[in-house]
Amino acid sequence: MSPAWRWASFNQTIRASEMGETTKRIRSAMGQAMQIAVDGPKLFALADGYLDMDLSRFPDVVRGIGDDLAIADGQDLNDMTLSVNAFLIELPGRLCLVDAGDGTRRGASLGHVRNAIRAAGFDPEDVTDLLMTHLHGDHAAGLVEGGKALFPQADLHVSAEEVRFWNTPDEHDAIQATQVPFALAALQAYRERVKTLEPGGEVLPGISTQALPGHTPGQIGYRIGQANPVLISADVLHLPALQIKHPEWGFLFDANKARALQTRLDLMAAVSESGLRLAGAHIPFPGVIRVLKQEDGLTFERADS
Ligand SMILES: [Zn+2]
Repeated sequence: MSPAWRWASFNQTIRASEMGETTKRIRSAMGQAMQIAVDGPKLFALADGYLDMDLSRFPDVVRGIGDDLAIADGQDLNDMTLSVNAFLIELPGRLCLVDAGDGTRRGASLGHVRNAIRAAGFDPEDVTDLLMTHLHGDHAAGLVEGGKALFPQADLHVSAEEVRFWNTPDEHDAIQATQVPFALAALQAYRERVKTLEPGGEVLPGISTQALPGHTPGQIGYRIGQANPVLISADVLHLPALQIKHPEWGFLFDANKARALQTRLDLMAAVSESGLRLAGAHIPFPGVIRVLKQEDGLTFERADS
């Protein structure tokens, strides 16, 4: 059976009973929390919800090859479902939310991060620190409602480069321009509590930062744990089933495609050597994988337990 024939046979709206296992898992997770095994601080994956996505978001995907990779991972390129995850880190005396989801602007399939915090056994009011990977809407819109900060006690940590970018209209193409309102609304609502940082050091004891530029110029990752650490790697990967084998298949919202590709290549090379686990906002919930070397290239496995 040729790959072209196989994907053609899937070229129709998929029924729930035919959904792949990964798609079912993503869709049923919203509002849930799952503890991720890591030494040191407690880490939880939070399911804000999911995005229905068409293939225009992955403009470089080669049909056939991409369809086979998606089907093998329990997904369908004709009816893609992308997780929107956030993460919660409990440190002594602090509760840190890494990204805040998409908010409620797009209906019931998103905006459940506060319920997920409760599901993890915490109160959203107790969040002390917001650790932002970047300020696109699906990460920052959940910070604000009606112009008001939804986490009024929390400091908002973000890279200085990210703040500079969103305040520099000359650098926004038409796609990035759609995200400016979310970034600026967050910076405005938390203006007295914004803490800009330079990646490379610790943002809080036990949480180090790493520059991951490309998807946005100031995107950063957060690393926790000692023996078997996790790097919360933001939007370096959107669909690991496609982009680990084909890192050149970028995402439409990558602000600088060449830089995003280089960051993806560098990170995949590094973690396939070191075994460092990757968590991601769009890696299928609970959103933690390990990248593995095989004879024919890289692959990945779930690594949340
Ligand atoms: Zn995102």
